[in-house]
Amino acid sequence: MTAFRTLDDVDVKGKRVLLRVDLNVPMEDGRVADATRIERALPTIDEITKKGGRVILLSHFGRPKGQRVEEDSLRQVLPALEHALKRKIAFADDCVGEKAARVVNALKDGDVALLENTRFHKGEEKNADDFIAALAANGDIFVSDAFSAAHRAHASTEGIAHKLPAFAGRAMQAELEALESALAHPQRPVMAIVGGAKVSTKLELLGNLVAKVDYLVIGGGMANTFLAAQGKAVGKSLCEHDLAGAAQEILAKAEKAGCEIVLPIDATVAQKFEAHAPSHIVSVDHVGESDMILDVGPKSIAHVEALLAKCKTLVWNGPFGAFELPPFDEGTNAVAQTAARLTVEGKLLSVAGGGDTVSALNQAHVAQEFSYVSTAGGAFLEWLEGKILPGVAALMR
Ligand code: AMP
Repeated sequence: MTAFRTLDDVDVKGKRVLLRVDLNVPMEDGRVADATRIERALPTIDEITKKGGRVILLSHFGRPKGQRVEEDSLRQVLPALEHALKRKIAFADDCVGEKAARVVNALKDGDVALLENTRFHKGEEKNADDFIAALAANGDIFVSDAFSAAHRAHASTEGIAHKLPAFAGRAMQAELEALESALAHPQRPVMAIVGGAKVSTKLELLGNLVAKVDYLVIGGGMANTFLAAQGKAVGKSLCEHDLAGAAQEILAKAEKAGCEIVLPIDATVAQKFEAHAPSHIVSVDHVGESDMILDVGPKSIAHVEALLAKCKTLVWNGPFGAFELPPFDEGTNAVAQTAARLTVEGKLLSVAGGGDTVSALNQAHVAQEFSYVSTAGGAFLEWLEGKILPGVAALMR
């Protein structure tokens, strides 16, 4: 049995199901540019309608800050949603009040409605009682399928889950199960790879991970801060010299916890931060004054791959280098491909997440092969930081 309530715990037949999804999809020229989030919501919608429930979709869209802004209307997403679901969906011009009630009251068992942007009301982000009550008036139960919004204690993500019987949808369930098997109850050894630009944005995350994983591989620009803290020259590389103390604290905490910190041994350096800039490989002990570290080198890659082959679980956030600029995507691509192969061979459970990580894995053509790729940005990072997400806590048994 899962630690949280799921659709297996409720009979939805004939019920008005307020289903919180994340339809905050990227738009281009008035059309949905990437329908991933819509696709993730489909299994839950399908299941509830097939079981005879009435689905009432709730979502935020953009940042209208508590007022009606036409360009943030969810009506724009309706065609893509209808296309994906292959059915007609009713639309209500407001998510509360008479307009919403009229649409909801007209639903029959198995029907679907979409209500207007929850963030058109100030009560959404304030998690205000009167707004929660107004939302809840249109439902018998609440189902949350928006892990990516669960780090925010808003009315439609958290408040309402205390007002109505609340359950995790299938997408939320899959996400929580993947995350739990990666960090809460993992098969050991566990490796975490943390890359990306800066240590400053990931201090809490590193602090949490050293206490949980066996190997913490640090890559990307943030590795430079650790190398500099160890007294190495990093030339013109991206580096937060003022965080040397914080880096040393993390190294000390890791040693105490028995976590091995894995830093680059060699690096690909260039003089310019641009695609195809002339580059060469140096040991991290010999980075020149005008060098910029833009990726890890072949020895570092081989070292990480050898350790990974011993691991049963991998959690990954952040690239090893400036992956948007070839050839500085090589470290990220190589390790991603090895992780994907080990996963396909059944030797590794691999979970990755965060905006740039998803693009990096897509670029390496391996996202499909990972055990789970989370498209939640902030929520995934907060979960890696060890925080209890309010929208998840509200679904616990
Ligand atoms: P983050 O959002 O923190 O995961 O950082 C991702 C960004 O880090 C990407 O845009 C990368 O280009 C950048 N990055 C990774 N390694 C380096 C590096 N060595 N120097 C500069 N930027 C880097």
